[in-house]
Amino acid sequence: MSKILIIEDEQTIAELEKDYLELAGFDVVIENTGDEGLSKALAEEFQLIILDLMLPSIDGFEICKRIRDKKNIPIIMVSAKKDDIDKIHGLGLGADDYMTKPFSPSELVARVKAHLNRYERLVSSGVQENDVVEIRGIKIDKTARRVYVNGEERNFTTKEFDLLTFLAEHPNHVYTKEELFQEIWDMESIGDIATVTVHIKKIREKVEANTSKPQYIETIWGVGYRFRV
Ligand code: CA
Repeated sequence: MSKILIIEDEQTIAELEKDYLELAGFDVVIENTGDEGLSKALAEEFQLIILDLMLPSIDGFEICKRIRDKKNIPIIMVSAKKDDIDKIHGLGLGADDYMTKPFSPSELVARVKAHLNRYERLVSSGVQENDVVEIRGIKIDKTARRVYVNGEERNFTTKEFDLLTFLAEHPNHVYTKEELFQEIWDMESIGDIATVTVHIKKIREKVEANTSKPQYIETIWGVGYRFRV
């Protein structure tokens, strides 16, 4: 039976999650503070951790980082604030999934099952699985940094690859050019947001069948871009 650790300071939420997970057949342990949660996570064998972001003593960011240093079990981070979820993405803490509160407990159970299945496959296969993002005809192998469109490999520059991957990993989310510039180029280059437009154009030439009717990266006029699900 898979053992799950919930690190959550709001007892009612923790209990609700526990009830649903137990009904689904999991063995569940709750810790209410950051430091107790972290010690428990490191001291015992769990197959998955559900980690709240705002916690007394040590916050979820730090806990995630410290668990990740030692273990590669799935971590699902939860937060009441959408902004925090964006921040988690940006920090690259190594969490496997993110949920914004309030979420439905059955959605949580579904995600827990999906992550456990994936993790078990990975562990039982004994080989390191490449980290792949696949949406419709596009397959992005993040480990090998290769992109396939309908099975055919296309060559991407580093920034084109990073930009496509970022958008594909956050489908259905509209990003402004400024946000994309910040995300992909950060402080390393003196450029302007026009760079984003140029790169989007190049990516479209490689992935779209018809660049004037993009099926993957949509332009949201006056706002920015969105990867279609
Ligand atoms: Ca909290």
